[in-house]
Amino acid sequence: MGKSSKDKRDAYYRLAKEEGWRARSAYKLLQIDEQFNLFEGVTRVVDLCAAPGSWSQVLSRVLIKGETFGRAGWEEKQKEARNYVLGMKDEKSQATEEKKQIEPRKPREGVRIVSIDLQPMSPLEGVTTLRADITHPSTIPLLLKALDPDTYDPSSTSPSAPVDLVISDGAPDVTGLHDLDIYVQSQLLWAALNLALCVLKPGGKFVAKIFRGKDVDLLFAQLKIVFDRVRVAKPRSSRASSIEAFVVCEGFHPPEGFKASLDVPLGAGIDLPQIEKEAVDADKKPSSKQREDGAIELELPSEDDEGGPEGGSRWIAPFLACGDLSAYDSDATYQLPKDRVSLDPVQPPTMPPYKKALEMRKLAGGAYGKTRGQENTSA
Ligand code: SAM
Repeated sequence: MGKSSKDKRDAYYRLAKEEGWRARSAYKLLQIDEQFNLFEGVTRVVDLCAAPGSWSQVLSRVLIKGETFGRAGWEEKQKEARNYVLGMKDEKSQATEEKKQIEPRKPREGVRIVSIDLQPMSPLEGVTTLRADITHPSTIPLLLKALDPDTYDPSSTSPSAPVDLVISDGAPDVTGLHDLDIYVQSQLLWAALNLALCVLKPGGKFVAKIFRGKDVDLLFAQLKIVFDRVRVAKPRSSRASSIEAFVVCEGFHPPEGFKASLDVPLGAGIDLPQIEKEAVDADKKPSSKQREDGAIELELPSEDDEGGPEGGSRWIAPFLACGDLSAYDSDATYQLPKDRVSLDPVQPPTMPPYKKALEMRKLAGGAYGKTRGQENTSA
């Protein structure tokens, strides 16, 4: 698909270039914030699987620069852009009215943003970037040091000041085999959660990408054990045809005695073996019990005012579409003005995995390599 054709078919791809975002994913985080007021009271954040960095850009622009998006800024701009593209001029007044009701944001004090990815990331104002694997235990000390460079104590397993929010947009290279993709994605989610458990403060928030597979309800129920509220968000900028969605978990409440660690990570089961035995008290902790083998088993919540009971212990997380209805529809194709120039991406990939393949193809003489008669038979 050429750039111009992609501009037509993917309004958020085009808009991201126009508004200076490194990736269209920026709109997913902005729309989640619009729905959940995600950044309220937030100053310390960890962005996992962050490259090329559009979520980190959102953090930098909202927390450090105090820019206002959402209804007060971005949506209005978006409506104007949409009117321009579709030739409709009648939707502007509503956005202006909404602007009056929303407090503009201000730069915040004491902001700390740490972003991690396997891929290198171009620098961003106020963001510390780490090139590391979120599934590996060695990433924890790196993260702790990046969070508190002046007070870091190598013997400590938690930050001196825990963080308010952990976000993860992690995605493996998709194979197209749904079950495999869902499995690998869930492993990445567990890695992100384990890391979040190490650094989040009580009451903190965790947002992560999920693929909605058939066992996703179990995951929601498991998250409900350590968070007060678990909801599923589908931003308008995420294609309806995609199984992608985001869990938005608020009100982190670690079980008493729980010590998070990437050496003994919490996995896709329901055990938290690292909870100390003496902390298990049926009265204090009605959601956990000790099994015969000594491991701690957490009982899944069976009922909740927001979700609901269904078939015994099944707990259904509320599902929310986010992003104003006037926002672009990511599945629609929009008509573009004839004189429109297609822009280049804001930040080309620094080290894309396909770079080596392109070099090899070039060395082999182009897309189809050498012709039959020229084939190298020495190997
Ligand atoms: N949120 C990003 C943004 O807004 O620019 C986009 C993230 S992209 C969809 C997914 C990222 O996950 C990729 O950059 C990939 O390198 C990263 N990733 C996948 N597995 C990872 C791992 N084990 N550790 C760290 N990053 C990982």
